[in-house]
Amino acid sequence: MLTVVDHPLAQHLLTSLRDRDTPPAVFRSLTHRLTLALVLEATRDIDTGVEEVATPLERTHGRRIASDLVAVPILRAGLGMLESVTDTFPAVSVGYIGLERDERTLEPTEYYEKLPNVAGKQALLLDPMLATGGSAVRAATSILARGPASLRMICVVAAPEGVRAMEAAHPTVPIFAAALDRELNDVGYILPGIGDFGDRLYGTEP
Ligand code: URA
Repeated sequence: MLTVVDHPLAQHLLTSLRDRDTPPAVFRSLTHRLTLALVLEATRDIDTGVEEVATPLERTHGRRIASDLVAVPILRAGLGMLESVTDTFPAVSVGYIGLERDERTLEPTEYYEKLPNVAGKQALLLDPMLATGGSAVRAATSILARGPASLRMICVVAAPEGVRAMEAAHPTVPIFAAALDRELNDVGYILPGIGDFGDRLYGTEP
């Protein structure tokens, strides 16, 4: 299921990300801030437990996050979202999945995978552009095979094609995005989109 995070701040930041004149340094900062809004929504229902706490005045009860989190960015564009997650949840452990897509077939090829123990943990998959869904489906398959308690996907923009692919392959994985865009073009870019997210993050646009 897709949740579009329509908080005004998220939409404001997304508009600046879409702007082709936004330079890489600003693009990275916008990504960081937008990811925070997305992560807060995506983790709204993570497991918490009740604990007693002593304030300076009296004892009361509060809630604390009860099970460990694991974040898995898909290289390289997912890296732009990672620091926001590690800042927000300092105890998170991090794994990496490197996937690149064949420009002709648009099929993903895995070139790197390094995952911590995810069994019984609450996993977050980070990939800003859910386009064909090929990479997201592959990455989610790898993570789910290791038995996490849950998996949530966080992206900046989703295409209908990618959402359909994820829902077909992994119906239990909720998706959180700042927008559901119109469609993919014939080389797999999202329209209206943001462009090549990795290139825009790291200043490697041709
Ligand atoms: N990856 C990107 O970086 N941008 C797109 O539009 C699609 C996939």
